[in-house]
Amino acid sequence: MPDGRESPNPTPGRAATHSEPTDATSTHAEPTGGPTEKCGVVGVALADRAAARPLYYSLYALQHRGQESAGIVTHDGFQQHSHVEMGLVGDAFDEDDLDSLAGATGIGHVRYPTSGGVNACCAQPFSVSFKSGSLGLSHNGNLVNADELRDELAELGHAFTSNGDTEVIAHELARNLLEADLVRAVKRTMNRIHGSYSLSIMHDETVLAVRDPQGNRPLCIGEVSDGYVVASESAAIDTLGGELVRDVRPGELVVLDPDGTGFESYQLVDEETTAHCFFEHVYFARPDSVVDDTLVYEARRNLGRQLWSESGVETDVVLPVPDSGRSFASGYAEAANETTADGQPRPDDDTGVEFAEGLMKNRYVGRTFIMPTQDERERAVRLKLNPIRSTIEGRSVTIIDDSIVRGTTSRQLVSLLRDAGAEEVHVRIGAPPIVAPCYMGIDMASREELIAADRSIEEIREEIGADSLGYLSIDAIADVLDASRLDLCLGCVTGEYPYDIDGEATDRDVQRPVIDGGEGSPARADD
Ligand code: SF4
Repeated sequence: MPDGRESPNPTPGRAATHSEPTDATSTHAEPTGGPTEKCGVVGVALADRAAARPLYYSLYALQHRGQESAGIVTHDGFQQHSHVEMGLVGDAFDEDDLDSLAGATGIGHVRYPTSGGVNACCAQPFSVSFKSGSLGLSHNGNLVNADELRDELAELGHAFTSNGDTEVIAHELARNLLEADLVRAVKRTMNRIHGSYSLSIMHDETVLAVRDPQGNRPLCIGEVSDGYVVASESAAIDTLGGELVRDVRPGELVVLDPDGTGFESYQLVDEETTAHCFFEHVYFARPDSVVDDTLVYEARRNLGRQLWSESGVETDVVLPVPDSGRSFASGYAEAANETTADGQPRPDDDTGVEFAEGLMKNRYVGRTFIMPTQDERERAVRLKLNPIRSTIEGRSVTIIDDSIVRGTTSRQLVSLLRDAGAEEVHVRIGAPPIVAPCYMGIDMASREELIAADRSIEEIREEIGADSLGYLSIDAIADVLDASRLDLCLGCVTGEYPYDIDGEATDRDVQRPVIDGGEGSPARADD
């Protein structure tokens, strides 16, 4: 559970930014927000019932990925219907809204803003009508060449209503659909956009799913009794009583049959490597979701086990930081009861380590609340977490969290536990130190704000006031996810990215497409 109110994505150069206020005197504090999730997408095609309610339930299942706005676009075979509102899913729709969304196919979106700003004009799905029909688009991710594409399209006469990258994709796709069939138009669009994208798209009554060629954000296909679903996470499919079919492959276009009978697959772009965001498994995705063939809960437990073997410390009790540290802590404590911190089998007469809840979360604290003074913001964590003294007092404790961003929350937590009588407080983190920002749609923080950007682990330990501090290694992440380092995005922990980002290093041979200022579409040669 990382710290503090997160700042805009500090994307340099042409990459998009958002305009969330970051003023330190802001009257709203988000005391325990972390690297913030960035949007959830869904799409359904059903045989014999309206799509609106299944979409609504799916969005509920994806609410953790974005709380700023929610929207649904459906198509009834004749026209598109859209309802998009700011706020949580439960507040954005009422019965009448759902009844008005006619049609058996549709897409939905929950949004946390990274590109385009915090306002209703950037809420999604984004819809546009053009000469060859209607389009709706839901996007999870972040393009790194959105501004140059927008400039080119504006030169060609396209009018934009937002500064978000999703509208750029919509216009680029609409432009290509004027000259090519659906599959070719999507391929041309993929050859012109660069960055992270998992999309659910509605072209008239046809629902499509597209995942960027490196598969940075998750996207999967599911089957329900009367149709097919695409969603950011399999938990949305579970919510509908469906079965996960498989992940959408990096570079793949999936076209759902509008009558709900099946889907077509087109592998439009092939890359040698993938760039799955490892933070999906560490923090963003629900533990009950299967992402890229791995159950997130199991991955977190195994990461916790690795954390014990790499940097275990013998203490009286292991406490998870709720809720995101829980699966790590259970794996860590399980491993701690099998072997000692120096890797020897634990003797029979050694009672081992207690795994307990020591921090209770107030579930009714909203995403933001009013904290006008610095002192109040410093104490913000106390509004959200309260220690259980009996598990802490007079004992040495290890708290397990998934990541540290700025260090503010970790410092507050350590002090909270000391105030509750802990004799020693050790901190263990289920991810490597975050040393660089994310440009792929995760609201992390700027380099200047990241506590690990220019500090050693010992310096961070001192800053947060812990008795010891341990992070998980990058190799442990790759091991547990059964992936080579080159198949993961590790940008925020290495400072080397899998996309061509202005002013940043890459860890592979990638190049952003050449945008030629409207002189023609270079992608056509690849049709
Ligand atoms: S930079 Fe970090 S958070 Fe962003 S996509 Fe890569 S691994 Fe995920």
